[in-house]
Amino acid sequence: MTLRDLSIGNSAKIIHVGGEGALRQHFLDMGVIPGAIVTVVKYAPMGDPVELKIHGYELTLRLSEAEKIEIEQIAGKDAEEEEYVELKSVSHPGLGEGGKFHDKKHENPLPAGEKLTYALVGNQNSGKTTLFNQLTGSNQHVGNFPGVTVDRKDGVIKEHPETLVTDLPGIYSMSPYSSEEIVSRNFVLENKPKAIINIVDATNIERNMYLTMQLLEMDRPMVVALNMMDEVIGNGGTIMVNRMEELLGVPVVPISAAKNKGVDELVSHAIHVAKYQEKPLINDFCDVNAYGGAVHRCIHGVEHLIEDHAKRAGIPLRFAATKVVEGDDLVIEKLLLDDNEKEMLEHIIIQMEKERGLDRSAAIAEMRFDFIGKVCRQTVVKPHESKEHERSRKIDRILTGKYTAIPSFILIMAIVCVLTFNVLGAWLQGLLEAGIGLLTAKTDALLVSTGVNQVVRSLVIDGIFEGVGSVLSFLPIIVILFFFLSIMEDSGYIARVAFFMDKLLRRMGLSGRSIVPMLIGFGCTVPAVMSTRTLPSERDRKMTILLTPFMSCTAKLPIYAFFVNAFFPGRGGLIIVMLYLLGMITAILVALVLKRSYFRGEAVPFVMELPNYRLPGAKNVGRLLWEKAKDFLQRAFSVIFIASIVIWFLSNFNIHFNLVENSGESILAMLAGLIAPMFRPLGLGDWRIVTSLICGFMAKESVVSILEVLFGGEGGVATALSTVAAGTLLVFSLLYTPCVAAIASIKRELGSKWALFVVVWQCAIAWVVAFVCKFFLEIFM
Ligand code: GDP
Ligand code: MG
Repeated sequence: MTLRDLSIGNSAKIIHVGGEGALRQHFLDMGVIPGAIVTVVKYAPMGDPVELKIHGYELTLRLSEAEKIEIEQIAGKDAEEEEYVELKSVSHPGLGEGGKFHDKKHENPLPAGEKLTYALVGNQNSGKTTLFNQLTGSNQHVGNFPGVTVDRKDGVIKEHPETLVTDLPGIYSMSPYSSEEIVSRNFVLENKPKAIINIVDATNIERNMYLTMQLLEMDRPMVVALNMMDEVIGNGGTIMVNRMEELLGVPVVPISAAKNKGVDELVSHAIHVAKYQEKPLINDFCDVNAYGGAVHRCIHGVEHLIEDHAKRAGIPLRFAATKVVEGDDLVIEKLLLDDNEKEMLEHIIIQMEKERGLDRSAAIAEMRFDFIGKVCRQTVVKPHESKEHERSRKIDRILTGKYTAIPSFILIMAIVCVLTFNVLGAWLQGLLEAGIGLLTAKTDALLVSTGVNQVVRSLVIDGIFEGVGSVLSFLPIIVILFFFLSIMEDSGYIARVAFFMDKLLRRMGLSGRSIVPMLIGFGCTVPAVMSTRTLPSERDRKMTILLTPFMSCTAKLPIYAFFVNAFFPGRGGLIIVMLYLLGMITAILVALVLKRSYFRGEAVPFVMELPNYRLPGAKNVGRLLWEKAKDFLQRAFSVIFIASIVIWFLSNFNIHFNLVENSGESILAMLAGLIAPMFRPLGLGDWRIVTSLICGFMAKESVVSILEVLFGGEGGVATALSTVAAGTLLVFSLLYTPCVAAIASIKRELGSKWALFVVVWQCAIAWVVAFVCKFFLEIFM
């Protein structure tokens, strides 16, 4: 019997996990191991994927994967033995007891003035961002890990200028499954932070501790922060922290990052272990007696064999040994073993597999979960079903229900759009526009009354105010859209969308996870492209990146709004919705073509956790919005500001740098005239339109500001263009090359060849679609 055959509500014990390679390792790391108990919770509305409960959390996977997992059905609830197990117990080195365990005679603190560097490591959704923000306040710096595109956030702990915390990407394991896992483990191995802060979601402790086990093996000073303790305690649970410290050999501090409880204690522990370089007291979790000690003997045998290699390679021995047993190629390569040694290792491991009756990866994963099980049985009083979980289940009955999931999704997106573009956004935008208008008039009056030179006045009013002002008024809409997107993401809803959209997206050759970058793409292509790095397969990543630019980003809104006002008054909403749809339809068509040509093959499997719904923290959301607003303002006052001035200059002077009366004789008209013939078939051969489109490559918003500068305000455009031309221009702007910033981020992710390709092919697609649209517009208008 396989997991696929298990019906809703029933439980089973896993017998065997099929499949191979990194994906199978990922299954094992997520706790899908032989011996574990799974329960089927529900199927997605389209019948695939399936949601499971395992180790007390919710996991989704596709039926085609479930098919590879052999099970044995069990009656009723899980019958896990609850016996008390004697464990090696060691006193932990923390300072909670006033340094009781600390050996003063041999203490060896780092020299004063040495920077205390920390790596903040934890699962996704364990509260890392929340804790990082609590720790650092506003002293943070966002950058990139050298050589890779994963975001890197550094910050100094408040009131401890000697510290530096690096927020590592959220990961489930130290296996090389996704690029983020590799980044994290290389950071710990190579940058050698002075200590690790491991954040553990206490409401989901078994799965989270799997990463803790591997961090302990890395033999760096470490503190475990048990987060979400407010929820555990609120639901009648407890964790015997002192006992857990003894069992793990590192300080364990219960905290609530969201409520800022226990964070000070965490900081003092973290500083202590880093300052005195107190390493974990245990990293040997294999049970001598379990299954004849097969795994234990194997790991220790391997340890002895590779001891010298690990030392030379600078990899902690225990970590190297378990990775060798798991068959981790990256680690094996670094160890520089010769053939004879490799052969001996292979023999040891095969012997273990035979004695243990499990293959190598499963045996190691099982060993870790076995230890975790023992620790939890002794230290964790499980809360009754948490209010949060019960609430999530109720919400999910509607939001991922068989008949309600997709209608709810459409409704939610519709509400978001109406609120963003119509109600809230339009109102705030109106206010801002009025303010800018007033300021422009005042400045103009001032310039006139002081008798400033006509040319300068034209530069300030027609160039700068017209250009920057028209873009600035979109700030509210952009901030509001990001507000909704971040709420959807932080609350856990986007994970659900990925869950029920998976089957649909698979038809297009993508996986459910690609929905995340696509939705973010409606905000801005830059973060959308960056967010694709959570996709574990290169193929999916590339394909998703190629498709996100079709999701109309907020920067194009000023263009739509401008033309809709001028040409389609009263039908604005409809036209904008149609543009968004056209973008999506084009993306789908392109995806189908890609799937059948360059990107043949299956999308990666879909293994994902469904976290409980949580109310996002106001602080986190506020910080994100502030970042987006800052970003936008910077663009408005740099790129768009400069573009406005340059264009004003080029359109007011001729090649002899003489002021021109008629801008048709300007430098700009001449330059744009060279490319204009290509746009003539679209009815967009006017040099001013061509210019604005070229400037749109710098920043989409500037299409509007440039048009206003060149045509002398909205009225000028309205008289100069036909309605058909306006429609064609809208379609072209929707689809043509993403802006420089987006191209730059595509280049970072995929390299310059792909970036160039995107520019060319998006322009080509835009041209073709615009041409087709023009044809239909001419018939129907
Ligand atoms: P990350 O994915 O690890 O960065 O996690 P986040 O910091 O984004 O947190 C995930 C969710 O958990 C957010 O909705 C937080 O508001 C919530 N959260 C974080 N810490 C706590 C906590 O201590 N208690 C509770 N109840 N919720 C928390
Ligand atoms: Mg986060």
